[in-house]
Amino acid sequence: MKAAILKEIEKLEIEEIKIPEPKETEILIKVKSCAVCGTDIKVYHYGHKHIVFPRVTGHELSGIIVKVGKNVEGYKEGDKVVVAPAIPCGRCYYCRKGQQTMCDNLKAIGYHYDGGFAEYMLIPENAVLNGCVNKIPDNLSFEIACLAEPLACVINGQDLSGIETGDIVLILGAGPIGILHALLAKINGAGKIILADTSSERIDEAKFADCILLDMNKVEIYEEVKKITDGHMADKVIVAVGNKQAQEISLKLVAKRGSINFFGGLPKESPYIQFDSNLLHYGEFFVVGTHGSTPLQNRIAIELLSSGRINVEKIITHKLPLEKIKEGFEIVESKKGLKVLILP
Ligand SMILES: [Zn+2]
Ligand SMILES: [Zn+2]
Repeated sequence: MKAAILKEIEKLEIEEIKIPEPKETEILIKVKSCAVCGTDIKVYHYGHKHIVFPRVTGHELSGIIVKVGKNVEGYKEGDKVVVAPAIPCGRCYYCRKGQQTMCDNLKAIGYHYDGGFAEYMLIPENAVLNGCVNKIPDNLSFEIACLAEPLACVINGQDLSGIETGDIVLILGAGPIGILHALLAKINGAGKIILADTSSERIDEAKFADCILLDMNKVEIYEEVKKITDGHMADKVIVAVGNKQAQEISLKLVAKRGSINFFGGLPKESPYIQFDSNLLHYGEFFVVGTHGSTPLQNRIAIELLSSGRINVEKIITHKLPLEKIKEGFEIVESKKGLKVLILP
């Protein structure tokens, strides 16, 4: 089979390798679609503490089951599936509390295990046993279904942000994740949704999201949010970019008793921001951070996509064969487009 193998930092090669053989407790899938995530680009340039090279990356994927280990129950050849890539252990304190994103022994596809930028992929035993393999309903294409992964992360974010009916929700960053936040906030009952970005192109591309768009090149964000909200500011702010300035400004954009979610992480060599703690003291707002998602949130994402309540078709701007994966990475990195799918 063909696989895109990351041999070392910035050395990605398409190679012919043996199709893996599933053990008794594993499943083999033919990968149908694997979206490029911002994290894939980060890993390509800087590596990752959980990745030992060589590794096949890619964790936003869908496929069809081609082989099932003889001790696997509940799945059969021909099932169309998505795989929640973060695999909880099911036994630790956090897993038992239902907070699997915080699992002490979390393992991930595309990091500890080979991922979806290949023609075939093994699903490890722990993923099968812990509900990470979710079947795709018939009305959903593989291409749409693979976006269940980023949507599940967005669901996790909004669960922790605690979005309530009528809330004014402000999202900083109009990339694919920011747009997913806007689409989800709508069905979560937000009263007003504002999506802001420093890139005019991104604002242009986000027009279909049906919310208030703020081009930060053209307006001063604090004044504009103040105007739109009658001075109240945003009940819930979601910082959907890994950017210090965005995190710092969010402290001034949140309403009293509101919440801010640092959804995007900062580079590990420079994680500190200026935080005016008096704003928090007097504003009594909450600051949360979120990353990843649980197998259940992945299931919920699939259901939202299947019901048509969240339509991600316009987020997919590029589809490329595995051979053109580097081109796909360049598109994501240059922010010229939204989601790039690799179809192995
Ligand atoms: Zn991702
Ligand atoms: Zn655990």
